[in-house]
Amino acid sequence: MLQTRTYGDERQLAFCAFCGGPTGTRDHCPSRVLLDEPYPENLPVVPACVACNTRFSPDEQYLACLVSCVVAGSTDPAKIARPKIRRILSQSPALRARIEQSRAESATGVTFAPEHERVSSVVCKLAQGHALFELREPHPEPPDTIHVAPLGLTLRAEREAFESTHGPVISVWPEVRSRAMQHILHGIDAPHECPWLVVQSGLYRFHASVDSGIRVRIVIHEYLACHVHWK
Ligand SMILES: [Zn+2]
Repeated sequence: MLQTRTYGDERQLAFCAFCGGPTGTRDHCPSRVLLDEPYPENLPVVPACVACNTRFSPDEQYLACLVSCVVAGSTDPAKIARPKIRRILSQSPALRARIEQSRAESATGVTFAPEHERVSSVVCKLAQGHALFELREPHPEPPDTIHVAPLGLTLRAEREAFESTHGPVISVWPEVRSRAMQHILHGIDAPHECPWLVVQSGLYRFHASVDSGIRVRIVIHEYLACHVHWK
């Protein structure tokens, strides 16, 4: 994936990206369960404490499986496109049963009722990782806004705003050696504009910006649109 040489303040990397505590390990951002092998080169890693590195795993696995099941309309591993998710669902009958329980079929089609708390927890974690890695902005505190919805259900106007890479005027300036600043300086994008970073085509892309605070937008599996904002 696109990587910019990072000149950011290394002191921002001395603490866990997710709880702000002492760090002892590193965590991939995005989590590898959201990606397929072969993984992109230069997958970002952020500092994490051992507790955070392990506590998110079940929820990340749940979210990755849920999205794949929703896309397929089924929890049947044979109908799932991603080999990794097929494997997880086959080996974890409890997880499959839990997702199946949330599945409903009616005259209008198949729906799944997500476990919102688990979804939000993962989305917040992903946004914290991107904010730290891309912008050198540690935000261990909960965001002011966290919004998760299927991309296709987003209203057209909202969708355009969500997809747009045109910030208004940059109201907050990026830290001088941060990746966001590098993007602007090195013409990867026009001033006031930063491209979506595609980590793996069709599976994961995101956009992190300093725009009235810190704003991270993520699209998972071209299905789930996530918007996280710290004022
Ligand atoms: Zn932590």
